[in-house]
This record gives sequence, C-alpha cells and structure tokens, in this order.
Amino acid sequence: MPGMYRAPKMADSEGRQVASAHPTTERQISKGARRAGLKGMAVHDPTPDERNEEILQYRFRNQILIGLNPVKRIAKEGESLGVNLSWKEGGPLVSSLRHPDEQTMAELMVVMGDLLRPESDLYYERVVEFVRKRVPGQQLEEVLRRFENAVNGINRGGMNLTVDGQALTPREAYLRILTSILEADDTKALEEEQKLAGNPPLRDMLWFSGYSYCLDMHRALFWLSSTLLKQRLLPKEAPRTELCIYCASADGTFTTREHSLPESLGNSHSILPRGWVCDDCQSAFSAIEGEVLKMAPFAVTRILATRYTKEGRFPSGRFSKVHIRKTRPNRLVVEVYGGKRTIIHTDEPNGVSSLKLRGLGGRFDHVKVARMLIKGALGAIALERGRKEVLASKYDVARRFALHGKPFAGRLVLPAETGPPQRIMRIKWWDDLPAALINIHGVEMLVSLNPHELPDLPDGFEHRAKVFELDQPVECVNQERDASGPSAGGGEQPGGEVSS
Ligand SMILES: [Zn+2]
Repeated sequence: MPGMYRAPKMADSEGRQVASAHPTTERQISKGARRAGLKGMAVHDPTPDERNEEILQYRFRNQILIGLNPVKRIAKEGESLGVNLSWKEGGPLVSSLRHPDEQTMAELMVVMGDLLRPESDLYYERVVEFVRKRVPGQQLEEVLRRFENAVNGINRGGMNLTVDGQALTPREAYLRILTSILEADDTKALEEEQKLAGNPPLRDMLWFSGYSYCLDMHRALFWLSSTLLKQRLLPKEAPRTELCIYCASADGTFTTREHSLPESLGNSHSILPRGWVCDDCQSAFSAIEGEVLKMAPFAVTRILATRYTKEGRFPSGRFSKVHIRKTRPNRLVVEVYGGKRTIIHTDEPNGVSSLKLRGLGGRFDHVKVARMLIKGALGAIALERGRKEVLASKYDVARRFALHGKPFAGRLVLPAETGPPQRIMRIKWWDDLPAALINIHGVEMLVSLNPHELPDLPDGFEHRAKVFELDQPVECVNQERDASGPSAGGGEQPGGEVSS
C-alpha cells in the first residue's frame, strides 16, 4: 500500500543531508558500547566540514592516481604522440596523427576531465585555492608559484590553432574534444566527428593539442600533489577516535578511508573518514564486494552506469555468452557468442533501442549482496548521524551479518525487472524501522537491518519483487511473491508522516 510508505530519513551518498537528525537515546549508545567493551569511551568525530575537507583532499589525490594508470599504460605499450607530415613536390601537404592506443588516450582524457573541467567539484583551481586558504605561508606559495608557472607554460606552449577565426589554446582544444566528442551524447559526438573527418589535418591537430595538454597537466598535478604531501603542506587531519563501526573495536590499525558502497559501482562521494573502519574490516569487505561485483546484475550495471574504473579504464565485462565493453563513455560494444537468442533487440518509440541480454550466466549469492548493501547502509547512517548512532545495539545483528555472514531473520527484496540505468546512488533508511532502501543506478533494493518484518514496500516494488531470506542457505531462494506479501504479515505498521 503506497499510502503506508513513510518518507525515510534520508541521507544520500553524495553527502547531502536531506532530513534533520533524530536524537539517539543514550541508552542505546551505552548498551552498544558495553557490548563492544568500550563502555565510557568517548567517540570523537571530526565535524562534517572537517570531514568534507579531508574527503576532498583524498578524492583529489585519488583522481590523480587513477589518471596515473592510463599514463603508465601509454608509456609502456603505446606509441608516443606526434604528427607525421609528408609532402611530394606538386602535391598537398598530408598530415597524419601518430598517437598512442586510441582508447587509452580517450581514457586518460576522460579521467582527467574530473580535474580539469571547471564544473567538476575536483577542479584543480578550486582545490588549489582551498589549500591556499587552509595552509597559508611562504613555503606553500613557493610550491604553488612553480605549479602555476608550469600550468601557464602548458597552456601557452605547443600549437595554437585558429578555428573559424577563433584561437584555440591547448586547454580549449582539450575541452572541446572532451565536451563535444568524448562526453557528449552519442548523436552529437557523431556529428562532431563527421564534421572533423572532412578536415583531417584540423582533426589531427585538435587531438594532438588536446591530448598533449592533458598529459602535461597530469604531470604538473602529480608533481603538485606529491610535493604538497612530501612537504606536509596539506591541512592537518582533525582529531578523532579510532573506532571501527563494523567490528566495534578500537584495536586494529586504521590507515584507510572506506567507501560506503563500492567505488567500482560509481560511488565517488560517500566515503568514511580514516579512523572509522579498521584495516581488517576494510579488507574483509573488499573481498565480499569483489565477488558481488562479478555477479551479472551488478557487473552489467557497473558497465552501463560508470564512466571509468579505478584503474582508469572504460568498464567492460565478460560473461558466459556475451562480452560487453565501453570504448568511450558514450559508446558500448556488445559481442555475442551465444547465438541469435542471446540478444534481443527492439526499437521502441522515441528512437529508443532496447536490448535484452540472456546468457550472462554466473551465480547469484543473495547473502553476499545483502552483506554489501548492509555494510553500505551502516556506513551511510554513520556519515549522516555520527558513529555513536551506528554503534548502537540495534544494529549489532546487521553488523555481524555484514562482517561475518551470521544469518538473521531478515530479508533482501530486489525488483524482478529494472529499467535503464540512471545516475543515482542513494541510501535511505527509516529511523524506527529496521530497514534500508538502497538505490544503485536506478535499481532499488530493500534490506533488513534487524530481525523484524520489513516495512511496506515503496512504489517501485508493488508489482513483482524477488524476496530472499537472509537466514536461508547461500543458494538462491528466488521466490517470487506478490510484493505486498512479505510486508503485510503483521509487522510494525508505521504511523506518522507520509510519503515523499
Ligand atoms: Zn573493524
């Protein structure tokens, strides 16, 4: 019944706070802390602003490291960049671009876009200003002066093209390729490429100029980032208690930051600060997530909905009868090895083509999927409400399940069918109902956080849903029920405010 669906208190993985926090009762905190042997331990969290600053620095450095992968691949395998010019007496001057592997070149240009485009929240000029504000001083100014000189040289140097009476600096050539070819929608990209195909020397020079800019800027940013780190010119880490929200222990080492939902699924923003997840838990979850990401629904979603992987490659996947790969963010190649019935293609109104794929094969392990989702939900709750909230005893069962797979009487509900992927990553939960609703690229999944009935299902689940019991063996239960079935059985019926 949609009317019974309460608006959950929401937090989403982009860190936006959507609803006000409810106070957590002290009773819950002390109970959780006692169980963990941490009674009386004060948990000190950095403020949201301090966390955001820390995560910004982390993402900036991480993005440069993602870019280092294609740079290394180019250095190792690729031909170096250049332009060949040839001329025979009496004939025209003929040019051709000598470039590294085209896909690797495009991969680097797309990854670097997140640092080089002014709209990006990782835009390097913004990050530089942030550091300048937070760590003022002569030493920093000297480093930034050298960096800015290098950047000016990169943008002034090289080749300056004039197109339609307009001068294009290397930076402008790069942004033009990025926005009108690599990241444009596929129809526009094709138009632009056809336009350039009529003028090969211009096309070659444009790519040459844009790509050199990108490579030079990566070198400059890598130098800047490493120098700031080496000379300790980054804002100091805010003080915090090292206490893991998953094993509820303060004993381990805490060297890493952890994504609530996997980075490989396209979660770039929802990141737990250092000190919140111990290294042991981090590596345990990394193994579970690695397995889940190989399962067909997640593997396909990852390819369709993400632009590049942590290795700075366009995403791809090999399934039993189908290979799928992106050769650009707007270009998908599907290779079928399983005969005609593997891929069913229909043209729908509005120029939309729909593909149905069979033969993806592989095993679906609902327990591992639920463990990954619960881990993500607990992480999101901690980010929104602080660690004390998530260390409360009401989440102990979920914590043990996520970490050790210890069964409990909860459920995972998945939609039986999904539409085309959307760019969404969101985790919502109810304050007084033990469940979380997780939306990964348009696929909404509901999972219990406590051994109770699930609440009424949201709109998307009304018709058909697959329900998995979390205390059943690993094998797929795959019951199909009327979606109102599992929720109508006398569970807590929520009162209060109604749907969003
Ligand atoms: Zn831990």
